[in-house]
Amino acid sequence: MLSTMQDVPLLVSRILQHGMTIHGSSQVSTWTGEPEPQRRSFAEIGTRTHRLAHALRDELGVRQDERVATLMWNNAEHVEAYFAIPSMGAVLHTLNLRLPPEQLVFIVNHAADRVVFVNGSLLPLLVPLLPHLPTVEHVIVSGPGDRSGLEALPVRVHDYEDLIADRPTAYPWPELDERQAAAMCYTSGTTGDPKGVVYSHRSIYLHSMQVNMTESMGLTGRDTTLVVVPQFHVNAWGLPHATFMTGVNMLMPDRFLQPGPLAEMIEREKPSHAAAVPTIWQGLLAEVTANPRDLSSMKQVTIGGSACPPALMEAYDRLGVRLCHAWGMTETSPLGTMAHPPAGLTAEEEWPYRLTQGRFPAGVEARLVGPGGDVLPWDGASAGELEVRGNWIAAAYYNGDGAEPLRPEDKFSADGWLKTGDVGVISADGYLTLTDRAKDVIKSGGEWISSVELENALMAHPDVAEAAVVAVPDEKWGERPLATVVLKPGSTVDYDALRAFLGETIAKWQLPERWTVIDAVPKTSVGKFDKKVIRKQYADGALEVTTLG
Ligand code: AMP
Repeated sequence: MLSTMQDVPLLVSRILQHGMTIHGSSQVSTWTGEPEPQRRSFAEIGTRTHRLAHALRDELGVRQDERVATLMWNNAEHVEAYFAIPSMGAVLHTLNLRLPPEQLVFIVNHAADRVVFVNGSLLPLLVPLLPHLPTVEHVIVSGPGDRSGLEALPVRVHDYEDLIADRPTAYPWPELDERQAAAMCYTSGTTGDPKGVVYSHRSIYLHSMQVNMTESMGLTGRDTTLVVVPQFHVNAWGLPHATFMTGVNMLMPDRFLQPGPLAEMIEREKPSHAAAVPTIWQGLLAEVTANPRDLSSMKQVTIGGSACPPALMEAYDRLGVRLCHAWGMTETSPLGTMAHPPAGLTAEEEWPYRLTQGRFPAGVEARLVGPGGDVLPWDGASAGELEVRGNWIAAAYYNGDGAEPLRPEDKFSADGWLKTGDVGVISADGYLTLTDRAKDVIKSGGEWISSVELENALMAHPDVAEAAVVAVPDEKWGERPLATVVLKPGSTVDYDALRAFLGETIAKWQLPERWTVIDAVPKTSVGKFDKKVIRKQYADGALEVTTLG
């Protein structure tokens, strides 16, 4: 028998309508480099969103299901695009501005974007690509920038403010099917072509509710969140949508992502929360160590995207800032786990829980699958590949207009779970600890060595700024770890001392023989260690490696 309850589609337009009315006085503040940030209330953003939808439909002819791209920093205008495009029934396609040009060209052509929003400061990136983007007909430019390069190109150029001025302020949002596409992000594509994950209105709505739960980020209208994680990186981890549900103020750094300006905006605007990958927090820590600043307004920081080194968490504890570890992927919207310890523990007892990737929320089911395909127990010891399913987890990848979605076997199990490619263990009470990426784990003499464990141990050494460990071929053992280390300025530590330091916490047979000092760990477009670059440098003989006896 069916229920007697109403069934109202879970739509992005409903989140917008709620935010702009019930939380109309909450604010998005965008850093401009000027003494005062640009401030815009949710009510103003809402009105401008309605105008923008009118402009897109009435002037540019944007249709339902059409992908509309953004090449933008985190700012108020990007939030407006976030709400206008899906609410009118089109699909927001955020472009990762740090990708190599050929990948951006692939992605825009694959999505067949006809309209691109761009920040004026990013025109030097877009203009050279445009001759290779035959589907693009309209470029909407927001903010100052040199527009002259656009004149000779066969595109119509619109100024964002001119485009939305004098438009009607009430757009009749269509009553869409909640399973329809609302937004898409391509994965960063470390292997093969980038793949498009398409979020639905329903998945965004449910994910936003999860982000708002106390067991996740748990923010309220009394909070301000500093959204450092880019809006093109899995929808800024869901924050723009989640904040419109609960009236959380957003502080947007725009292009000012260097440690100095970040420290300044924290000190001046006093956000209570922030979200970013570990590289950002490493950089900020170095900055405030050199030039002390007060970061203590940030009561909670969500850190994820790659493993948070324990030493980093400890250093921020000392500054009065609590880093809370989270795990997720483009394919998981991204919220998968968050590491809030169980109730009733002392700070010392909480520590091991805080170092895990965290606990699964009710909406995400998880299982570990061993090398032989068997489902492993949650005993904190059996390591396998993590598989997940739930209503904000991808079931397939976009395969072009009208084509059947892609379901590669290495990404989806026969019974429909997402294979994450992450290897780890789960404790009986549901805390996930990742030990590696499936492709980064070091297989030495039939045993697995965790590259992450070695990296964390190395980064706990006072002379080490960063360290990445990769598997390299070894005649005797199959593979062995290569430690690549970035030393802090002025350090004189040697490899024997580093190995002895590792030996205090790590089994002897796992200690690396091969060592090299590098200037910086190569990073991917979203700030993760790019281990394939290190493996290639090693294979090409480009690294000066010392082998200890
Ligand atoms: P992306 O789709 O670019 O966000 O990348 C997702 C991948 O980032 C995951 O599959 C993990 O390998 C990695 N990742 C994300 N969060 C964490 C974390 N807290 N600890 C370790 N790895 C993480």
